[in-house]
Amino acid sequence: METQNSEYQAAIMPTYGRIDLSFVRGEGCYLITDDNISYLDCASGIAVNTLGHCHPKLVETLSNQAHTLWHTSNLYRIPDQERLAFRLAQACKLDHVFFCNSGAEANEASVKMARRFQYRQNKQDKTTILCASGAFHGRTLGMLSATANPAYREGFGPSVAGFEHVAFGNLNELRAAINEKTAAIMIEPVQGEGGANAAPDGYLQGLREAADEFGVLVIADEVQTGMGRTGSLFAFQQYGIQPDIVALAKGLGGGIPVGAVVARADIGNAMGPGSHGSTFGGNPLAMAVANSVVDVLQEDGFLQHVQEISSYLNTYLVKLSEQYPSLIKEIKGLGLLRGIGLQECFAAADLSSALRDKHILTVQAGLNTLRIIPPLIITKSEIDILCNALTICFEEKSHEL
Ligand SMILES: *Cc1c(COP(=O)(O)O)cnc(C)c1O
Repeated sequence: METQNSEYQAAIMPTYGRIDLSFVRGEGCYLITDDNISYLDCASGIAVNTLGHCHPKLVETLSNQAHTLWHTSNLYRIPDQERLAFRLAQACKLDHVFFCNSGAEANEASVKMARRFQYRQNKQDKTTILCASGAFHGRTLGMLSATANPAYREGFGPSVAGFEHVAFGNLNELRAAINEKTAAIMIEPVQGEGGANAAPDGYLQGLREAADEFGVLVIADEVQTGMGRTGSLFAFQQYGIQPDIVALAKGLGGGIPVGAVVARADIGNAMGPGSHGSTFGGNPLAMAVANSVVDVLQEDGFLQHVQEISSYLNTYLVKLSEQYPSLIKEIKGLGLLRGIGLQECFAAADLSSALRDKHILTVQAGLNTLRIIPPLIITKSEIDILCNALTICFEEKSHEL
């Protein structure tokens, strides 16, 4: 059994630094190993399992749909796709939706839409996409060029042209970078992989104004921040701006791979039949589940719960940072996308590992940040479990110094 396991494991291409743990079951906010140890999941499969594991509504929807219809292709109408499109468009105050299967694909499509829109406006030269330092937009060749971190690009050949980077949060630099070639600005309202960095006050409004002034589109990459993660359905709502294009994925399917791009009608109309496509995108199986996710997010009080629980967590984290200033640099993020920015003496990987020893799962982000992205259904008592474990970890580490 042992040899076989390691032979199987060796067949996996080593693109991930994996933790030697595997789970056989999920229940609410817990993941359970084969030897029946429960881990409190504060990583949510990287901001995916918004409704926790095996949410009864999603299980029911998925099993019903599995017995009915899985896939038909976009050669035919898909009623659940039309319904989800309508709901997402309404919620974003936009008009058209394109469905795909992942965040990188959603961002790729967003860039195509922005360029095609400018092209149809007779602004053929407007092709450049402005992105932010610390941004993460995915791993396709195109999105590698949109992603700021050069480590992700090493050895993958020439960068795709047409992407430029400016310092995240710096309006002067952004305005100075906009020119007659700029098609769109692509921005995460809160940078996820970059370290739970929330856009500073006024930045997104200023960005929107600058974009309007120069005929530039705003693409909100809400792949991680969308679907209730930050306490509103989309993070841009809390910043009081209206994007032209919104990219979604991660939380949208609650664990079923699905991505979406929501755009204004004139942008959608600039696309047209044959301009873009996806074999799997928006198939009946994914659409049924994503509609159920939206059903739950739109239930009375759901988002209020996210706001309350995240402010409960944040209050605790801020207190912790005051208690251990030599270990904690800052508390970052918004809603249930929180980051503990650590001082250099404490590696986020070590904190994450210490928490794992206490059966709590978290994930690192950006520059030495521990990211806390639990299912949105997490309760106060589960947050208490996390907080108590954090206190013990910081107390232990402070004795080491
Ligand atoms: C995860 C992520 C992506 C990439 O999504 P994939 O589904 O892994 O392709 C893009 N943008 C943001 C903000 C993300 O957090």
